[in-house]
Amino acid sequence: MKTIYLDNNATTQVAPEVLETMLPYFSELYGNPSSMHSFGGQVSKTIQHARENVASLIGADPEEIIFTSCGTESDNTAIMSALSVAPDKSHIITSRVEHPAVKVLCEHLTQRGYRVTELPVDRDGRLDMELFENSLSRDTAVVSLMWANNETGVIFPVERAAQLAHERGILFHTDAVQAVGKIPINMRANNIDMLSFSGHKLHAPKGIGVLYIRKGTRFLPFMLGGHQEKGRRGGTENTASIAGLGKACQLAARNVETENTRVKYLRDKLEDELLKSIPNSKVNGDRTNRLPNTTNISFEFIEGEGILLLMDQFNICASSGSACTSGSLQPSHVLRAMGVPFTMAHGSVRFSLSVFNTEDEIDFVINKLPPIIARLREMSPYWKTESPVCGIRDTATQ
Ligand code: PLP
Repeated sequence: MKTIYLDNNATTQVAPEVLETMLPYFSELYGNPSSMHSFGGQVSKTIQHARENVASLIGADPEEIIFTSCGTESDNTAIMSALSVAPDKSHIITSRVEHPAVKVLCEHLTQRGYRVTELPVDRDGRLDMELFENSLSRDTAVVSLMWANNETGVIFPVERAAQLAHERGILFHTDAVQAVGKIPINMRANNIDMLSFSGHKLHAPKGIGVLYIRKGTRFLPFMLGGHQEKGRRGGTENTASIAGLGKACQLAARNVETENTRVKYLRDKLEDELLKSIPNSKVNGDRTNRLPNTTNISFEFIEGEGILLLMDQFNICASSGSACTSGSLQPSHVLRAMGVPFTMAHGSVRFSLSVFNTEDEIDFVINKLPPIIARLREMSPYWKTESPVCGIRDTATQ
């Protein structure tokens, strides 16, 4: 049975053109780009070419691009650098819905004496900009806000937030891991100082990330070692992955239009049809200001894990908004921050599409999911006792 992969915010398939670009760097082109000989020199040229393609996707200059190992490393590097260059400041502003790559680091930093403001979000996952502005202080060393949320796809007004931080001389970092390649980004048109993203979310391989640092931004490296990346990130370059990422960025620049038309059309069709055919279902997050590929839907009174397991029998891949930790199902911190009610949060599923999905796949899911939900609700004690439509349902099934 064919896999229907609707979990592209978790990771994406490596595009065939990307794989093809990478392969020579595992075989004949294995030179070290730092070597003096021309055998290494040709790999160095590939890295420069990739850097140009990466920069071009986000409207940056190639020198503003640093290759790292992943989004997590880029996020950690950006925040730690901002703190190191402002040793007299001890305040960090972030949000309650950040990815653990930022959230866990900030929690760790509170133990080292930093004061962290985690901005709340409303029911639709939106930031209160007034609250944000009021949180900026003379002691703030860095603001780190995600461009787009990985669970709901909700987009934060990071360019406006960066402008406000900039006016007060505060460094601004954004985790754009889910945004790059899905929405247009032009770093020449904003004041964001640092931006992170990751190859495996845009059809490049895992293990390659990017940290954009605006020219003139004070920076202290996290990875000390060799002179690679102009001394900003030590370690021999992951040449095959860098070449692949360059190709993936070139493809993404071409596909960003498709993301916002065909992929969005498929996402909207999936969402509209499921909401229509499944009672007590609701989209989590601001539907007007969202990534074009993501929908997070709650199916009330059942467990997301159960839905995933039954979908898995049809090789349909998605994610749930709750994680089974030590036997207790805990809804995600994102849905909790949004105040999604318990019975809704537990039954949430994230579908995230890519340019590789087809309409046939979406139709298949639209067809298979309603009976899966009905079957789980049959078994749910909450559905029988609490659902406002259960009376109708019972009548219909008698
Ligand atoms: N930030 C966001 C918003 C993400 O979605 C992810 C990955 O899921 C990361 C950071 C971490 O990226 P990586 O897996 O490359 O470390």
